[in-house]
Amino acid sequence: MSVTICQTAVTKAYDIVIVGAGLVGLSLSLLLKQDFKSILLIDKRKVEVDVTSSNSTDLYINKKSIALSMSSIEIIRQLDLWNELEKVAAKIEKVHVSGNGDVGSVLLSACELDQKALGYNVSTAIFSQSLIKSVKNSQVEVLSESSVENIIFKKEHVEIEVLQTQNSRVASFNSKLLIMCDGVDSKVFDFLGVQKSDFESDYEAISTNIDLQQPHQNIAYQRFSRKGHMALLPIPKDKQTNRVELVWVLKKKLANEFSSLSDEDFLKYVQDNFGYRLGVFEKIDQRLKFPIIRQQSMEQIRNGLVILGNAANSIYPIGAQGFNLALRDVNNLVTVLKSALTAKKHIGTFEVLDQYYQSKKNDQELTTCFGDSLESIFSHHNLHVRALRSLGLLAIDIVPFLRKKVTKFGVGVR
Ligand SMILES: Cc1cc2nc3c(=O)[nH]c(=O)nc-3n(C[C@H](O)[C@H](O)[C@H](O)COP(=O)(O)OP(=O)(O)OC[C@H]3O[C@@H](n4cnc5c(N)ncnc54)[C@H](O)[C@@H]3O)c2cc1C
Repeated sequence: MSVTICQTAVTKAYDIVIVGAGLVGLSLSLLLKQDFKSILLIDKRKVEVDVTSSNSTDLYINKKSIALSMSSIEIIRQLDLWNELEKVAAKIEKVHVSGNGDVGSVLLSACELDQKALGYNVSTAIFSQSLIKSVKNSQVEVLSESSVENIIFKKEHVEIEVLQTQNSRVASFNSKLLIMCDGVDSKVFDFLGVQKSDFESDYEAISTNIDLQQPHQNIAYQRFSRKGHMALLPIPKDKQTNRVELVWVLKKKLANEFSSLSDEDFLKYVQDNFGYRLGVFEKIDQRLKFPIIRQQSMEQIRNGLVILGNAANSIYPIGAQGFNLALRDVNNLVTVLKSALTAKKHIGTFEVLDQYYQSKKNDQELTTCFGDSLESIFSHHNLHVRALRSLGLLAIDIVPFLRKKVTKFGVGVR
C-alpha cells in the first residue's frame, strides 16, 4: 500500500532537538530543561504515561531491570526522581564474583568502602515511566510516532525533517543543536555518512526473573563459566517472593538451544552453572532474549550535532555498563552546554561540543574496554583479574583504588 506524504512548510525553531526518547533521550531532556526553554523530543514510538501501570513491584514480572551505579543514582536524584524510585528498587550491597570450576571467589562490599550501596537494580519499565511522567509535566515538547527522515546542516542551525506516521505529514524544525539518541540503528549512519565500527558479536542474552527459596540479601552475583557470563541481580521483595533477575550472556548457538528448553530444564541448567549460593531456584518468569550488539560510532560530534547513548556506543552488557556510561556522558554534555549558555556562546559550535567530547574520551575508552574483554573473561584463569573486569559498573566510579587498578588494567599493567 502506498502512503501519500503531505509536505508542510511549518518550521518551528528550538534551542535543542533530541531524537530518541529511550532512557538516554528522556534523561537528557530532563537535565536540560531547567536551562533551555525550548526543547523538542522526537520518537518514532508512542511516548506516553501508561495509566494501567502503577509503581508496584508487579512491573518486575516478565520485565527486564537495569542495574544503576551510584553515579547514575546521583544524576537521577538531581531529576527529583530517586525518592520514589528508591522505594521500588533493590539495593546492591555486595557483589560476589566467582567462576564455575574455580575454588575461590571475591566479595566486594559497600560497607567496607564506606558506601551505603554499590548500586541499585530497578525495573526498566518503572524507571522509563517515571522519566516519561516527568517529561510530560515539564515544558519539554514531545513529538511521538514521528520518525526523522532528513537532516540538513545550515551555517547557524540544523534543519530536521520528521515524518509523522499517524497522518503521514512531514514537519520541519530548526534547532541550534541536534542530539541523536536514536539507538543502534541511528539515522546518523544513513543520513550523515557517519562511519561506525561493527564488532562481530556471537552472543545473545537471555533474561528472566527467578523465584528463590531464600532471601537474596542484596547481593549481586557475577558468575563466569566457559558457557558464558551470568549475572544474578536482586529484585525488591514482592509479597512473600524472593526474586533475582538473571542475565545470561551466551554464544548464540547455546542461547538458541536454551531458549527451546522447558522452564524446568532451563532452570536446571542455570542452577548447575550457578550452584547453590542462593539456595534452590524455584520458578522462572517468561524468558526474554536480547541481541548483543557491539558497535561504536566513529564520530560523536559535528558542528550542530552530538551522538549519545547506544547510537554512540553500544557495548556488551557485561558489568551492566551501557546506560551508566551514557548517563555520565549526558551529565558532562549538559554541564558543557550550560556553561556555553552562560558565556553566551552558540551551543552548536564544534569548539563547545569538543569540550564535551574531550571530557568523556577516557571514560568511554575504559568502559568499552571492560566489555570488549568478554572473550578473555570466559577463558581467563585468574579470578581477581576477572573480578576486576566484571566489577566495572558497581565500583568503578566510587572506589578510587579500584578505579586506579582498573585503569592500569585498561592500559595493560598487571
Ligand atoms: C541484556 C542487556 C542488559 C543490560 N543491562 C544494563 C544494566 O543493567 N545497566 C546499564 O547501565 N545498561 C544496561 N544495558 C544497556 C542499556 O540497555 C542501554 O545502554 C540503554 O538502553 C541505551 O538507551 P538509548 O536511549 O541510548 O537507546 P534505545 O533504548 O535504543 O532508545 C532509542 C530510541 O530512539 C527511537 N528512535 C530510533 N530511531 C528513530 C528515528 N528515526 N526517529 C525517531 N526516533 C527514533 C526509538 O524508538 C527508541 O525509543 C543492557 C543492555 C542489554 C542488551
